[in-house]
Amino acid sequence: MSFDSFSFDQRLVAGINACGYVTPTPIQSQAIPEVLAGKDVMGLAQTGTGKTAAFALPILQRLLAAEATKRGPIRALVLAPTRELAGQIHENFIDLGRQTGIRCAAVFGGVGFNPQIKAVSQSTVVVACPGRLMDLINQGAIKLDKVDMLVLDEADRMLDMGFLPDIKRIMSHLPEDRRNLLFSATMPKDIKKLADRILKNPVTVQVANTAPAKRVSHAFYPVDQHLKGRLLEALLKEIEHESVIVFTRTKHRAKNLARKLDRIGHQATFLQGNMTQNQRRRALDGFRDGTFRVMVATDIAARGIDCDRVSHVINFDMPDTAETYTHRIGRTGRAGRSGEAFSFTTPDDKVIVRDIERTLRLRIDSHTVEGFDYDRLPVQQHVSHKPKVHNGARRPHKSGGNRRPRRSAGREKRA
Ligand code: AMP
Repeated sequence: MSFDSFSFDQRLVAGINACGYVTPTPIQSQAIPEVLAGKDVMGLAQTGTGKTAAFALPILQRLLAAEATKRGPIRALVLAPTRELAGQIHENFIDLGRQTGIRCAAVFGGVGFNPQIKAVSQSTVVVACPGRLMDLINQGAIKLDKVDMLVLDEADRMLDMGFLPDIKRIMSHLPEDRRNLLFSATMPKDIKKLADRILKNPVTVQVANTAPAKRVSHAFYPVDQHLKGRLLEALLKEIEHESVIVFTRTKHRAKNLARKLDRIGHQATFLQGNMTQNQRRRALDGFRDGTFRVMVATDIAARGIDCDRVSHVINFDMPDTAETYTHRIGRTGRAGRSGEAFSFTTPDDKVIVRDIERTLRLRIDSHTVEGFDYDRLPVQQHVSHKPKVHNGARRPHKSGGNRRPRRSAGREKRA
């Protein structure tokens, strides 16, 4: 299938060409005709599958076909959970719609109100995070009474982040007669409920949740908690990598690890919940343009990072759920490239390891890094009076054989 089969307006074709898209991705082939036909759509797909263009293109096409005015009123509203994702969707609309003249505004927290209020008053498409959008609604600064296309993107994450009440309130400001699209990487019960509530006779389009697994190879690296930092250094030396995302469990670990890596010569930055908009943008732009080759991030902060050059995702700390694992590794193996997902596992991670294997229907092999001293004692024990007896040979690491006291990572506040 080619983009020609959708008979898009030439101005949109120009945008598609400028973005370098030649062939629609599977989610695009499935979703675009349905949205063009005015159907409600439930899209099961994660970031990295091309899902943004799967809704942006038909929305722009419908606006062009309806000869919608280009500088408002707002006809299409896209809700996204994080500023990064909202920013990326906004950029996608701008890039694809560049020749159409249709204005698109982004609405998210952490930046001043006035420029956003001005932008929304002159836009036909708005991409928004629910919290800031509610602020604008409450201030009477935005009119949504002409919205006839609504997209909820990464709906599962929006619910995880507690946005359901805001979403319900936002919906009460929209006209009843509208098209609705809901995208989600997963389909837990509460998403099903939300879909039942919002979508009318929806068509379900799905690209298999295991899609990244085909392009991503997985490996576990069993290691004691206190050796994770050293193992990461050793691994980064050993592997040939382009851009790498390292996931940690807490904000502090993300920041400290990035600083440590940067000190020893890896161009590293971090992304976590407590950053100003400018700091985030600097980190993200630097990661995208290759100034930083390693990004250390927490789950929430990393939502929607869009960088095609990510060759490796490293789970420095394991995620809590198999779904989060799938989200994390969705950052690599994108746009047809292959990627690798490495996970540092401790004996405490047995349950999640099993869940991941079951969810992906894969048996994931455990690996060791050649020459790495897996028997090294924690720092506290080095300074004690008990000298370490070592015969010089590296003992093969046995997963599950964690004999040393481990520093807990669990006490810090999560991002
Ligand atoms: P998304 O899942 O929307 O975040 O898209 C993932 C990446 O794929 C983005 O960098 C898009 O620009 C890119 N992309 C989307 N559609 C296509 C396509 N048809 N051909 C090539 N790249 C695409």
